[in-house]
Amino acid sequence: MTTISLPPEQRAKLGRHLRRAGRREIGGILMGEQLEHDRFRIVEFTVDETSGTPAHFVRSPEHHRAALDAFFRRTGADYRRFNYLGEWHSHPSYPVLPSREDVASMVDLVTGERDIAFAVLLIIRLRCALRIEAGGFMFAMPGQMTSVTLTR
Ligand SMILES: [Zn+2]
Repeated sequence: MTTISLPPEQRAKLGRHLRRAGRREIGGILMGEQLEHDRFRIVEFTVDETSGTPAHFVRSPEHHRAALDAFFRRTGADYRRFNYLGEWHSHPSYPVLPSREDVASMVDLVTGERDIAFAVLLIIRLRCALRIEAGGFMFAMPGQMTSVTLTR
């Protein structure tokens, strides 16, 4: 099974964004480091704050392109090691499980974008205003979903 490390400092940063967003759903992209064949570490993430109601998070590739390019520059364009890892968003009022729309958009992503062989979906939620509850899911061609083990 794929293992993904969400280091304490990234977890704390996500927590700050979740507290600020309140009931609004927020999300962005995940940039990671591949440690082993099936082991990754979340290095950075972007934040898209959707406006208004807890509307469903929609991916905006153009918006994240610049962040990804900056990440590549910082990591020396070592794409095999440091690359796009996937998507994240919050479920302020729902369990940290992918909705039908979440699954459909992730399957579209891995089957539609030819330079993405797999993508992780991280869903997070703040519990008791403190603890982050997280669920990780791996999507790969031809569109199947598997669970991910999240570690520190
Ligand atoms: Zn969702």
